[in-house]
Amino acid sequence: MARPVIDIRGIHRIFESDAGFAHVLHNITFSVRPGEFVAITGPSGSGKSTLMNILGCLDTPTSGTYLLEGLNVAELVDDELAEVRATRIGFVFQSFNLLPRMSVLDNVMLPLAYTQAPRFQREMMAVHALQAVGLPVDHYDHRTNELSGGQMQRVAIARALVNDPAIILADEPTGNLDSHTGRMVLETFHKLKDTGKTIVLITHDSHVAAEADRIVSIRDGRLYHEDTSGIISTTGGGR
Ligand code: ADP
Ligand code: MG
Repeated sequence: MARPVIDIRGIHRIFESDAGFAHVLHNITFSVRPGEFVAITGPSGSGKSTLMNILGCLDTPTSGTYLLEGLNVAELVDDELAEVRATRIGFVFQSFNLLPRMSVLDNVMLPLAYTQAPRFQREMMAVHALQAVGLPVDHYDHRTNELSGGQMQRVAIARALVNDPAIILADEPTGNLDSHTGRMVLETFHKLKDTGKTIVLITHDSHVAAEADRIVSIRDGRLYHEDTSGIISTTGGGR
């Protein structure tokens, strides 16, 4: 079987503040194979975004191991981590995080700024990504604040795709959308899966989670894997 793209073992995340300790993630172990579409679902406050930040190398676990495409993330220096974030992972958020007064095309080109590739080349890459999410060509020069919510999220997905990352991490990508628009955005994830992307979709909505090939539930910072027979097991028994 192919090596997992994401392989986390025994991860804990403990936040420390003046108020004391918050033990948010408990002994989390799971892996995602290349091309899988996995949903992580659980109620608000269960630790989904904390886990996503670790998967996206935006945060570091307190203990445990994270292998990303075989790389031990804990051993990467800052420059290497920044490169992994910029080129291997595409992020999609609930709030789109677009720059409102910039054009669609310029928003999608943003992650390419560091490449120093000529503008026409960056534009070609952005157009390619926008085609993948099905945004009409006559919208490319619109400011993003002129778009509908569903269009904004598709632009955000195009921006996540522009570096051709292997992995797309989406944290509540349909959270700000009505159910019809949310469906259209989920269709986009299905299409991406068909092109070979690995997708981790985080959602509190069980209907949205049901779109994925596999569902992993998180409760109070502990992960519960559901196999196809509906048997639920946990890796989070310890501590
Ligand atoms: P979800 O995304 O599932 O709603 P989060 O991962 O955002 O949940 O939060 C899980 C728990 O961790 C919450 O109780 C939250 O208050 C806590 N938490 C998240 N980040 C921090 C932090 N930086 N410091 C302390 N507690 C935090
Ligand atoms: Mg969250």
